[in-house]
Amino acid sequence: MENIRRSSIEMDKEEFRKIGYQLIDDISNFINTIDEKPVTPNESPSQLQNILGNSSLPENGKPATELISKATDLLLNHSLLNGHPKFLGYITSSAAPIGALADLLSASVNPNVGAHILSPIATEIEKQTVKWLAEFIGVSPSYGGILVSGGNMANFTAFLAARTAKAPKSIKEEGIQNSSNKLTIYCSKTTHTWIEKAVILFGLGTKSIRWIQTDASNKMDTKVLKTTIKKDLENNCTPIMVIGTAGDVSTGVVDNLSEISAICKKYDLWFHIDGAYGVPAAVIPKFNYLFEGLKEADSIALDPHKWLYSPLEAGCTLVKNPQHLIDTYSSHPEYYNFSNNGDEIAQNFYEYGFQNSRGFRALKVWLTLQQVGRSGYEKLISEDIELSKILFNLAEKHPELEAISQNLSITTFRYNPLIKTKNSNYLNTLNENLLNELQTGGEVFLSNAIVNEQYCLRACIVNFRTSKKDINEIIEIVLEKGKKVHLKLSKK
Ligand SMILES: *Cc1c(COP(=O)(O)O)cnc(C)c1O
Repeated sequence: MENIRRSSIEMDKEEFRKIGYQLIDDISNFINTIDEKPVTPNESPSQLQNILGNSSLPENGKPATELISKATDLLLNHSLLNGHPKFLGYITSSAAPIGALADLLSASVNPNVGAHILSPIATEIEKQTVKWLAEFIGVSPSYGGILVSGGNMANFTAFLAARTAKAPKSIKEEGIQNSSNKLTIYCSKTTHTWIEKAVILFGLGTKSIRWIQTDASNKMDTKVLKTTIKKDLENNCTPIMVIGTAGDVSTGVVDNLSEISAICKKYDLWFHIDGAYGVPAAVIPKFNYLFEGLKEADSIALDPHKWLYSPLEAGCTLVKNPQHLIDTYSSHPEYYNFSNNGDEIAQNFYEYGFQNSRGFRALKVWLTLQQVGRSGYEKLISEDIELSKILFNLAEKHPELEAISQNLSITTFRYNPLIKTKNSNYLNTLNENLLNELQTGGEVFLSNAIVNEQYCLRACIVNFRTSKKDINEIIEIVLEKGKKVHLKLSKK
């Protein structure tokens, strides 16, 4: 071996500069013309496989220039663009461009934010980010937490902390094998599917879930919640936690958080709020009433990669007393020399959640929070809500459309050419076909929701590029495609 090592994986300064500048130019053009492209090229898996080719693992390396240029073409020309102004599907937001630069910077330095000693400045930035997120939604600064990959992980992280805190103390050693009382948890039927994964993952099983029915406004029925808890207590169950949702995935409804909180206090249960989508709306003063009770939560999940427009992936778990995270996740193997030297206590994020080695996902969130500021976010989120209301009102007024629901920035509506028809089966088929047509057409991307057994088109606006003009055009597109699909179906 030579004295000086030349690695094929290294890039010299000039090569990195050249490729990097070209990439930045391409990305900059991409962002600037994103509204001119189709939302999706709608290519099938086999078409894409053809483009990729089916060669086996490369034996020998290739120049980075060629690879980056090819990858740029693949991604910019064969992707669904959730940053397109007419992408309003699921809860996937447009991404702040500063987040792309942040990811490049953080991958370049590559701090391991599992331990302070491995990521001194990155750890402090993540701590500040968590603190700012708590301030953003208006809860006490005593909340601490951790950034994770998304809403599912944020909810899991809180769920296990709740289990540790409220199950019999032996649970960490015995698992749930020896509990004589069945652990039970409570949430409404609108709760996101993470809850089913959580009870499987953490050993409680799906039968531990008490699905509380919703009232007419689609919020958890707190009377039923109370009677269900009482009944379980009489039947030797051990209720441990209640999950309130702040912005449900289908229609954006926020549960009555203060009533749920009062019930949790009465029965000494952990109060968790899944605010993955909706809780950033708490930044708007006139919506404070919706989030009353938020400050009482033992834990909160929120997703910067949704309404804070961070690029994927970024979720966050906030816990009122962060010691619960340490009680759940901390361990001190002999091969870690992470304990504090000196009089200052350093925070090691591996003790706060599931991950050990951790990337620096806080940077993009931290930078965007500063680029936009609290008041900037208040404006952006208010505008998304305003646009959602405009869409609802347009649907309400149009004789061929039916407006169904509007909460936070989610509107559901459907195409109904028959005006108050009683043939609900046909309307469901019509709108399902229409949605497929819209999703593959490339002009607009909506998703669906079933509201009171009605198949609806669903627009969720977490998109800082969407304008009033887009909303007007979306109505036109839905009407035009709706007519076509109706014609086709009624000929059958
Ligand atoms: C999106 C969402 C989730 C899941 O979050 P991911 O980031 O997709 O893992 C969970 N709960 C609610 C209420 C959500 O909106």
